Amino acid sequence: MLQKQLNLPPSFIASLEGLPGFDKEAFIEVHESGRQVTSIRFNPRKKHNADQLDAEKSELQTKISQQIPWCPYGYYLEERPSFTLDPYLHAGLYYVQEASSMFLWYVLQHTVGSATAELKVLDLCAAPGGKSTLLASYFTDGLLVSNEVIKSRASILVENISKWGCSNAVVTNNDPKDFHRLPGYFDVIVVDAPCSGSGLFRRDTAAIEEWSENNVMLCSQRQQRILADVMPALKENGVFIYSTCSYSKEEDEEILDWLCETFDVTSVQIPVPPQWNIVEVQSPGHKAFGYRFYPDKVDGEGLFMSAFVKKGDEDVFSQRKPQLTSIAKAEHAIVQEWLNHNESLFCCKQGENIIAVPAIYQQDVALLQKHLYLRKAGVTVGAVKGKDLVPHHELALSLLLKDRFEKADLELADALQYLRKADFSLNGSSLKGWVLASYKDANLGWMKVLPNRINNYYPTEWRILKA
Ligand code: SAM
Repeated sequence: MLQKQLNLPPSFIASLEGLPGFDKEAFIEVHESGRQVTSIRFNPRKKHNADQLDAEKSELQTKISQQIPWCPYGYYLEERPSFTLDPYLHAGLYYVQEASSMFLWYVLQHTVGSATAELKVLDLCAAPGGKSTLLASYFTDGLLVSNEVIKSRASILVENISKWGCSNAVVTNNDPKDFHRLPGYFDVIVVDAPCSGSGLFRRDTAAIEEWSENNVMLCSQRQQRILADVMPALKENGVFIYSTCSYSKEEDEEILDWLCETFDVTSVQIPVPPQWNIVEVQSPGHKAFGYRFYPDKVDGEGLFMSAFVKKGDEDVFSQRKPQLTSIAKAEHAIVQEWLNHNESLFCCKQGENIIAVPAIYQQDVALLQKHLYLRKAGVTVGAVKGKDLVPHHELALSLLLKDRFEKADLELADALQYLRKADFSLNGSSLKGWVLASYKDANLGWMKVLPNRINNYYPTEWRILKA
């Protein structure tokens, strides 16, 4: 009866019967209940966190309930606010991510550990950027390659990575098979695979209509192709993390068995406290460990995650890395006025813009540029025009910007006007020239204050359309 109301296909429910941890009645009930779970993950490198929001008595803080046990920066919210109308979201102070997905943090702690310096990390199926922003927060001194094959989705990924403000990320727009060109290069690869999506049915009831056994099989085959394409890019002893938001064993445990049969990998068991109610499973053939999240057991959506270490030494990275060409001295002098950490950065040209990447990764960025289609690398600083820099929006949101620029700290209504790329005024202000628009001290972007008007430089394609 309940099942009929929500139209969970009987063949779908039948396909889950007998899976470890599947409790039919509780599963249907939680889908029927209409209960939604909302959660966010803070950006630890931007100074705002839950305590600071508390001090500011922000609206978001009033909604924060508990910390998510498997991720130190993740919090549940009591109700869903209008995220679009919260300037903090646009400033990259937090990301709206469903709680189960943040389990990636815990898996990294138990596979990679805390020695992250100079690790090269690939997030192969990255848009819109949930796992990538988490990876950027985890690997603060590594190099993150965040890839998305679909062009339009790669643009959303660029936006979210830019807002996160890190300089050690590269966004690429490539097919998984292109990573064959980098054998044995990555220390960590995450594949959050495209899947039949049943884990999100509670949120996205329209997706229920699209579920079919045939689609599960097609997804499973595609997952195998993706893994076959990308595994050679992982180095010996590298960590491989696989996840889906599907409950189907064909996309989960059976993929783990296929991986064990096809590659020399060792499964990693993750010590999960029993009170978290995450279900540990083992694949039928090779006994590889996997972790199932059911929404009737966990405050989060359906998820499957598994981790491996790669053995075998056939994929050793042996290419000579090329060099990027540095900008001219005169341009350096201009850029220096805008950037912190100058000595540890390498600046080069990308079209008319100057980009800044961590100096230790300049050859890696050159290598990636040689083999892949880069949508973004490091932080776009801006374009030099004569003796001045026209600063790029990414710079305003990045952690590289010198703390010497004039700010107009806007009230909520004006901050939203700024984010709509609409008009507002700075009554009585003596500010002029390039000024940062900010909200409670969090940078939103640039504006140029002229004697008779304000030019709003918020990117047109990112502007809020909501009234
Ligand atoms: N990791 C993302 C996050 O946390 O925000 C979500 C990724 S989503 C589950 C899967 C992604 O794989 C989608 O962005 C989709 O465009 C991409 N994708 C679709 N087909 C693909 C393929 N054949 N190879 C690689 N990625 C693909």
